[in-house]
Order: sequence, then structure tokens, then C-alpha cells
Amino acid sequence: MLSHTKLIELAERFDTPLYVYDAEKIAEQYRKLSTAFSACNARFFYACKALTNINILAYISSLGCGIDCSSINEVKLALYAGVPPQKILYTSNGIAFEEIAEAAQSGVHINIDSLSNLEKFGKRFGNGYGVGVRLRPNILAGGNLKISTGHEKSKFGIPIDQLDGLKQIVSQFNIKITALHIHTGSDIKDADVFVQGIKVLSELVSHFPDLTVIDLGGGFKVPYEPEDEETDIALIAKKLASYVDSHLSANGKKYELWFEPGKYLVSECGYLLTQVNVIKDNGAQVFAGVNSGLNHLIRPMMYDAYHHIANISNTHADEKAYTVTGYICETDTFATNRLLHEVREGDYLVFYNAGAYGFEMSSNYNSRLKPAEVLLKDGEALVIRKRDEFEDLLKSQIKLL
Ligand SMILES: *Cc1c(COP(=O)(O)O)cnc(C)c1O
Repeated sequence: MLSHTKLIELAERFDTPLYVYDAEKIAEQYRKLSTAFSACNARFFYACKALTNINILAYISSLGCGIDCSSINEVKLALYAGVPPQKILYTSNGIAFEEIAEAAQSGVHINIDSLSNLEKFGKRFGNGYGVGVRLRPNILAGGNLKISTGHEKSKFGIPIDQLDGLKQIVSQFNIKITALHIHTGSDIKDADVFVQGIKVLSELVSHFPDLTVIDLGGGFKVPYEPEDEETDIALIAKKLASYVDSHLSANGKKYELWFEPGKYLVSECGYLLTQVNVIKDNGAQVFAGVNSGLNHLIRPMMYDAYHHIANISNTHADEKAYTVTGYICETDTFATNRLLHEVREGDYLVFYNAGAYGFEMSSNYNSRLKPAEVLLKDGEALVIRKRDEFEDLLKSQIKLL
């Protein structure tokens, strides 16, 4: 974890609000995954919707990790960042077929998530382009319903009970199904959810002779609250390896296991540095209002997510309870009655776990400017995105009146 001194130095040098990412932490997380799964035939594709800065994509690719994309623009960003197509995976959802066709043009791996698009794919490509299918395993897992994607009411994937329809399309167009994919949700720490997932898929492998990949998606939980335990990746790997050995090696075929970690790779590397604009004591609560808001970090308001906060400017003072809010003209509470070292106007507050779905979900709401992003790598602080300027708000607007 970056020291308070380092964070203050960065805040002073680059101003706030500021997103900071620590490259070494990303590498450490990737090492944990690849070490844990070294006995499996595993490959990892970073689910880049968590954080798409092209330097992050290039860095993660340089570690040996692939990139998983959820839009054609993410595919293009990964290509632009220098990631080779065979290391890019496009797991599509609810998209126009043209995007799938465009992705196929660039030669990336593709997971298709509807029978309708699979049929169009078959018509266009026949058996000339191996493809994966995203299935819906009917498993309820994940931190909360908004981030659960594998259950029976979820829009994601082809429901496994439509296997007959799927097989019919595959045989009609002679489609080469090379991968079966599921992604059950986010914030999963229970190894058994992954075992349940591979169980569902392993019952289907016999229907797909061209299959080489079992893709179990992402969703590995990371600690957000101080008392949260680290997800036991080694245990997940061990359970999956033993399942593969006993259930999937019968015909001598060795499947690759693919994973798409997002949060796991980039959540903890990130810090949102803010500064306190206003202290307001309304009797019942003391508000600490920072120079940021849900426009920069929406997870607390969107998912009731907990982000650890520290006052790094006054660490020796006594703790008091503060409700930390933003400067947006709508309720944008980051934390309610949170114990922080006494907060004064001008103090720096840091939000932890800000790497995943932080900057990426930011907006210009209230015509506020997006923060700069800094990547710490090999002892250097690299500005990988400039802070927005006022002109950016006007960039795409057309003044006609
Ligand atoms: C979002 C997503 C992921 C990553 O989820 P995390 O919880 O960030 O690990 C992986 N795969 C797919 C298909 C996704 O949509």
C-alpha cells in the first residue's frame, strides 16, 4: 500500500482530485493468480471495463495477461495499446451483430451471448471462425443483485436450458464452438461458486467436439473493508484443478481454463485523492465535503459499496465520526458517520480500492471536470491522463444559438 507521505507528495505535485494507480500492486495481483493456477492450464484476460486507460492495458499485457473487452471500443483501445489480437477476448452482451463482425475482422476471440447473434454469426462465418458462447448457468452469486449476472432473471448469456436451440444453430451452420463461457457476478469469494460453474459447463462439453476452452469469467472478490479477508485464490485453484482432474480429463483432452479478473487486478492498486472543501456541523452529524463526488466515484451511491477512507493530513489527531459527502447537487454520500482522524478544511482524504470502476464510471455531471490519472511505475509518477479542462466540456457541443 502506498504510504501517506507518498500520497501527500502526489496530491501536492499533481493537485486534487486525482486518481493514482500503483503498477507494482497490479503485478503482485497478477502473480498471485498465475502462481495459484500454475498447475491448471490457465489463461487470464483482464476485464478491462474496470479501468481502460491505454497505459494500464499495455502494462497488464506486458505482464503476460490477455485483455477481456465488453465493447468494440474496448477492443479497439486494446489493439491501440499494442495488445495482439490473439490476446484479446470480446465477451459481448446485447450488442448489434455488426460489432461482432467487426471484432472478427480484427481476429480477436469472441464470446457470443444470444442465439440470435450466434445464428447471424453462423450465416456470416460458417465454420471459418471458432467462437465461444456465453451461457447463463442459473447460479445466483455476487456481492449484490446489481452485480450478479448468472441467475435466472439475468439478461446475460444463453440460458443453459436452451441447449437444444443452441445445438440446432451450431449444427445448421456447422459453427466451431471453441469455448464455453460463464460469468456469474462480481465480489465472489466462495470457491464453491466457481466449482458450481465448472460443473455446469463440464456437463455440456460432450456436445461440443471443437471445444478447447472453459471460461469461468471473473468476479474474484478483493477486500474493501479493513476486516474483509483476502479471497483464497489458491483454494479456488486447487478445487478447480481437482475437479478438472476427476471430471474433465476422461477423454484425454486437456481444456484451457480462462478467467477474466477485473477488480482482482486493479481495485487495490487505485487511490482517489481528494481535499476537504467544507466542514459542516449540523448538530446530528458532521459533514466533511470533499472536492469530488459521485461524478468521480459512483460506487457508494450506485452499489452501496464501502470504500475505506483515511485523513492523511492529520493522522495523530483523535478520531471523530464524519459523514463524507461530495460537491454534487444531489445526495452523494461516500460514507456515513465514518471514524476519521479529526478533519479540517484543506485536509487530504484518500479513498482506497479506487482502481476498479472508479475513474471508469466517472462523468461530467454538474459540468464538473474529470480528475487526472497518474501511474506509479518503477519509481516514476507518470501522468497517463490530463485533468479535464473547461474546454473539454465544450469539445463536442455545437453552438448554434
Ligand atoms: C465485468 C466482467 C468481468 C470482471 O468482473 P470483476 O468483478 O471486475 O472481476 C469479467 N467478465 C465479464 C464478462 C464481465 O462482464
